[in-house]
Amino acid sequence: MVIVLFGKPGAGKGTQAPRLAAALGVPILATGEALRAAIREGTPMGLAAKAAMDRGELVADDVILGIVKETLSSAPFANGAILDGVVRTVPQADGLQRVLADIGRKLGAVLVFDIADGEIVQRVSGRLVCDKCSAPFSGREPGESCEVSGCQSGQGGGTLVRRKDDEPDAVQTRLDQYQQKTAPVLEWYTKQGARIATIDAVGTVDEVTNRAKHALGL
Ligand code: AMP
Repeated sequence: MVIVLFGKPGAGKGTQAPRLAAALGVPILATGEALRAAIREGTPMGLAAKAAMDRGELVADDVILGIVKETLSSAPFANGAILDGVVRTVPQADGLQRVLADIGRKLGAVLVFDIADGEIVQRVSGRLVCDKCSAPFSGREPGESCEVSGCQSGQGGGTLVRRKDDEPDAVQTRLDQYQQKTAPVLEWYTKQGARIATIDAVGTVDEVTNRAKHALGL
């Protein structure tokens, strides 16, 4: 089953993705994470994407669709995927349909995380991430250590940092980009007759997980 997690930046898609992936027994494709890994590794794709990402702007559709095609065609994704942070534009939605048709798969559902802009700004301004494993944290201070077990067992645990695109200017740009380019995707999916499930994304992490599972019939 292929599920698209859809919603504003900071709506909680990245927090819920591992929980839903575990419940469904499928891996996660998170394009933001794939791009950050490419930046850390200094690949040409990472170098090309970095400036747009730091400003909070979207990366080019062909780059994103390249990641989507390569990942969804790979063996670990044979049984489906949770898509976190993709799709974000109508051309990406269209491209995803073509990739799915090529590999003989169908979109299961679009799960929409509903949340107001004001809540996003407050949430994101308190968000830190591990610079090694990218796990999100709130209520912590920059410079503290990450205690996610897989992270610590690597080459030393990571450190908690603020993402450059979680700075206030970049957050506003990301919300603007969402309104201009991402919100129309929902209209597109509605016209396509896709299964769209909307959940209230404000609540504890467990509450939102339960709503999401219920909405997906899990
Ligand atoms: P995220 O981790 O999903 O918040 O993504 C971080 C940043 O990566 C975004 O602000 C964009 O610059 C870029 N990005 C991630 N996914 C996409 C996508 N599907 N389309 C365009 N840009 C993306």
